Amino acid sequence: MQMITVLGATGSIGVSTLDVIARHQDKYAIFALTAHTQIDKLAEQCLQFNPKFAVVGDAALAEQLQAMLRAGGSTTEAIYGVDALCKVSNDAAVDTVMAAIVGAAGLVPTLAAVHAGKKILLANKEALVMAGGLFMQAVADSGSLLLPIDSEHNAIFQCLPAGCGSSASASSNSGVEKLLLSASGGPFRGMTLEQMHGVTPDQACAHPNWSMGRKISVDSASLMNKGLELIEACWLFAVPEQSIEVVVHPQSIIHSLVQYSDGSVLAQLGNPDMRTPIAHALAWPQRIESGVANLNLFEIARLDFEKPDMQAFPCLAIARAAAQAGANAATILNAANEIAVQAFLDERIGFTQIADVVEQTLNSQVISEPESLEAVQESDNQARLYSSAYIKRLEK
Ligand code: NAD
Ligand code: MG
Repeated sequence: MQMITVLGATGSIGVSTLDVIARHQDKYAIFALTAHTQIDKLAEQCLQFNPKFAVVGDAALAEQLQAMLRAGGSTTEAIYGVDALCKVSNDAAVDTVMAAIVGAAGLVPTLAAVHAGKKILLANKEALVMAGGLFMQAVADSGSLLLPIDSEHNAIFQCLPAGCGSSASASSNSGVEKLLLSASGGPFRGMTLEQMHGVTPDQACAHPNWSMGRKISVDSASLMNKGLELIEACWLFAVPEQSIEVVVHPQSIIHSLVQYSDGSVLAQLGNPDMRTPIAHALAWPQRIESGVANLNLFEIARLDFEKPDMQAFPCLAIARAAAQAGANAATILNAANEIAVQAFLDERIGFTQIADVVEQTLNSQVISEPESLEAVQESDNQARLYSSAYIKRLEK
């Protein structure tokens, strides 16, 4: 029996994870489920999966949740705060942690799981983008097993030779020449920057192929998601940014590819449903049923590919430049993007101003190598302050 903590259980990835786990209750049991504020949904999940702990954002929510759980006859204990998130991530009883909190808030609890040597299923790409060097060093030091959930990275992991996956270099003697990162192009593919000026949050969140949380949906629409994923891939597979090419593939059937020196290109295909990478990582190196329908190639009939439009989607170039700059550039990029995306979702700035906020913030900050978690958090904090102030100026 694998004991699992799901960080971010009420989110899109969390719900898909529990869907897969529910199909295999002989193999997996839940130690803890966490949510920030959605206690109704969390209570429902607790009644179904009977975890030891349920974690929420603050004391008042924990009290409300505890009352709901008691009324439902559940013995789950409701606790709250960052320390509680760390406790359910590094508890000796836990084997595996699904890191599916969105944004920088996921970093500290995910690192707690890494330091404790857990098997980490990493969906929370922002944690790796913001603190890649420290994160990967902690993985190496603790011997924790890091498996990618992001569909593209999970696909690359599946296409790399055995032993070349996460936390091992893909370049040494394996013949790997290039990683080809798939991108759907998002809801605004084919539009010019001009045409994107007036788009609304709901339009940005209406992804053609994937159903996801609102933050990652906006990132997918701006292609910042692909930029974050480029940085994520550099860390996961120990390759330089130049070895990764973004391929726009609107059907989202090929989830990414690996190109080898002998002319071979290996790809992983599947319907666009996150339960496939989740099931893959949960059971790795075995395979389990995920609930995802078989791929019907005759129905799909054709697969298309194009280069990303770098004029219309400046976020991708900004992220690539941050990957090149290294040090704390990705920390700043991620923080400014989180602030800008929230401001766009709150209708305080326009969609095309997201890139502007991120670029201005990067230009305003000192680029230096963060030697500690505190230094990462300080860079993150400074970038948030700057971008928030910049957005206030834009609003005037
Ligand atoms: P979501 O918004 O649907 O869910 C986010 C979860 O995080 C919720 O459970 C929420 O309660 C929790 N959370 C939010 N803020 C928090 C905070 N401050 N403290 C503690 N918990 C907090 O997001 P999602 O779409 O499930 O994405 C989760 C992560 O997975 C993101 O990093 C995203 O980039 C990544 N990811 C998602 C998908 C997808 O298909 N949804 C695909 C690839 C990667
Ligand atoms: Mg992805």
